[in-house]
Amino acid sequence: MKVARNARFRTTIIASAIVLTLSAAAVWQLSKARCFQLVGEVTCRVNTEGKVVALTFDDGPTPEGVDAVLAALGPRGITATFFLIGNRMERFPGQAERLVAAGHELGNHTYSHQRNLGRSQAFYAAEIARTDALLKAAGSDTNLFRPPFGKRLIGLPLEAERAGYRTIMWDVEDQPERFTEPRAFAQDILARVRPGSIILIHPMYQHNHVAREALPIILDGLHSQGYEVVTVSELLRRSGSR
Ligand SMILES: [Zn+2]
Repeated sequence: MKVARNARFRTTIIASAIVLTLSAAAVWQLSKARCFQLVGEVTCRVNTEGKVVALTFDDGPTPEGVDAVLAALGPRGITATFFLIGNRMERFPGQAERLVAAGHELGNHTYSHQRNLGRSQAFYAAEIARTDALLKAAGSDTNLFRPPFGKRLIGLPLEAERAGYRTIMWDVEDQPERFTEPRAFAQDILARVRPGSIILIHPMYQHNHVAREALPIILDGLHSQGYEVVTVSELLRRSGSR
């Protein structure tokens, strides 16, 4: 009798552990889902027949990142969307203004670029508001928000929506850990792009030199595939989703 009860108890413990593990895994997956979130609107790509894509650059702004991107985009007459971090804007004053002056679009990528799970609402609100003020001071009035690492559950999207932001994810992301040679890095992106894609590239930090070197190859590749490259806002306008 006692043996049976112990066995039942053990089974219950094991079953509970499995359920908890599966729930944690489901929440983790949900927190990084690209095209779905529990609160507010999220966009990871748009539906269009047209050969048009949006190009987005995350993090920074750093002087070397801005130099490289402006040098690649400027002569090609391309404008893009930059999701900037508030504390980087403070550390490197004038860089966001350079992007605005060149006609690019800015987005809010929070103040300190932390994983935004399990924090207080006040923390999320401050992360968004401090960067919002810096973006406005740089001459950009944006409503585009991208969560650091793409991570969010309920609290962060709720504050983003309250602040009037729309969450923008991506469907094609650079893979610097897999491709360490610029041409291979570029080819990987070019092979995955399709009409309506939102492309994410990280060119800002010192160790991101492969992304910076690959950028002209990516832009020329998109051009020869017949793609027009636009900002996120323009892509949304073209697809009638704003
Ligand atoms: Zn980031």
